[in-house]
Amino acid sequence: MFSDLEISDNLRRIEGMLPPGVGLVAVSKFQPVDALKAAYGAGQRKFGESRVQELLEKIPQLPSDMEWHFIGHLQTNKVRALIGKTSLIESVDSIRLLELIDSESSRQEVKTDVLLQVHVAREETKFGFSKEELCDLMKSYDFARLQNVEIRGVMAMATNTGDISTVRRDFEEAASIFREISQSGRLRRFDLLSMGMSGDWPIAVEEGANLVRIGSAIFGSRQ
Ligand SMILES: *Cc1c(COP(=O)(O)O)cnc(C)c1O
Repeated sequence: MFSDLEISDNLRRIEGMLPPGVGLVAVSKFQPVDALKAAYGAGQRKFGESRVQELLEKIPQLPSDMEWHFIGHLQTNKVRALIGKTSLIESVDSIRLLELIDSESSRQEVKTDVLLQVHVAREETKFGFSKEELCDLMKSYDFARLQNVEIRGVMAMATNTGDISTVRRDFEEAASIFREISQSGRLRRFDLLSMGMSGDWPIAVEEGANLVRIGSAIFGSRQ
């Protein structure tokens, strides 16, 4: 884990390298509250968490203007507890989850912004819609039935490999899916392409990401 000073230096360095218009989510999962406070003190506002329980424990200990991005696999039985707490749920990976987020948002009378997670990595382990599933969704799904959820874009993870050409190909594919959906005109405010982590974010930005999710390069290794 890094010191407060290192955390703020890391944030400054990364922010300085990001082109204008690219947002930074500081991925704070498994990091202690003090590390988040240090990042907040350095001006960071968007934070990424991957477990509902951990997020709910952190929220009351931190300033109320923090913007929480949920980035982990979301189980349907945790949706109710999460709704109303996030500025963006980045990891919607099924229609069932999307519809549940919508109905629960309606029940709680809030609007929830989400991203659809697309599976582009050459790995079995990653969650998300395949390209084909998303194409079908765009062709046949009646988006008008969604009242309180807004699909703002897509989130993707590249294959976990040191092979840069594979990583670039994954990001390219996600970016092309993003553009296709965006150009289809079926979704009103579809403008976020979230991709890139500590080890691969410069490639993601080159391929068009406008939101990056960076954890260990800011905070150090997780507890
Ligand atoms: C943990 C995580 C990150 C951040 O990973 P780092 O390698 O620490 O930057 C980004 N996105 C998702 C979905 C994650 O689960």
